[in-house]
Amino acid sequence: MAHYTLASRESKSDDTLIRLGELTLGGCEKLFIAGPCAVESRRQMLDTARLVKRGGAQILRGGAFKPRTSPYDFQGLAEKGLEYMAEAREATGLRIISEVMAPDAVPLVAQYVDILQIGARNMQNFALLKAAGRSNRPVLLKRGLSATIEEWLQASEYILSEGNQQVIFCERGIRTFESYTRNTLDLSAVSAIKALSHLPVIVDPSHGTGRREMVSPMSLAALASGADGLMLEVHPNPAEALCDGPQSLPPAEYLALMHQLRAMNAFLAKLPERAKAVGE
Ligand code: PEP
Ligand code: MN
Repeated sequence: MAHYTLASRESKSDDTLIRLGELTLGGCEKLFIAGPCAVESRRQMLDTARLVKRGGAQILRGGAFKPRTSPYDFQGLAEKGLEYMAEAREATGLRIISEVMAPDAVPLVAQYVDILQIGARNMQNFALLKAAGRSNRPVLLKRGLSATIEEWLQASEYILSEGNQQVIFCERGIRTFESYTRNTLDLSAVSAIKALSHLPVIVDPSHGTGRREMVSPMSLAALASGADGLMLEVHPNPAEALCDGPQSLPPAEYLALMHQLRAMNAFLAKLPERAKAVGE
């Protein structure tokens, strides 16, 4: 028996759909989340939100509480950042997602956002997972830097067992011996999650590669691998970004990619059903 009963396909065979107003995640519509790594200013958020909307993504991302490797790096604008995000939602109609890092911050962040994000570094922060499980917001659960698929599924169980059934997995690359890329994007995890769980799974090729030029090819591959959506880092001027500029798409590249992704989606929708294995 799997150690992740509630997340498993055995406990529920049909795909879980997560509804956010008129949006459905996990069904045939793909969900695109885009925005800067960090909320930097009101202007930056409003400009990026308009761009994100123009490209066709439905959800705006932006970190207000940033988990930085060094304590001397920009830590985020905290609640002010959430206010700017909420204002950008008002201005564009986009939904918003932002990371929560501490269990006691869950009520505050949940007050502002449509989706709570749990970052890779907190995938096994069990107190945080449980607190998110007690909120009524969908939770995007990123894969830990060195987490196995099984550990990731078990982490989701902490959220589900508190009564929150709205979990979205996000593959964001894992740590390997490879150093050319920031992380090794494990697209095979998408099909593994699809087989093992009824919950939706999306891919973050920005953190998954750390390299802007690899974001488009990996985004296309992620959709082909069966992902339910993507999370992309986008910045009006990546050279001046306070966080993750090298992996952030500038406006023209973001718009071109979204155009390609729509074509990819249309192509995938027309693919014939996979032939059943002999004897199945
Ligand atoms: C992020 O998406 O803002 C982030 C910090 O990513 P990760 O947790 O995957 O490193
Ligand atoms: Mn980032």
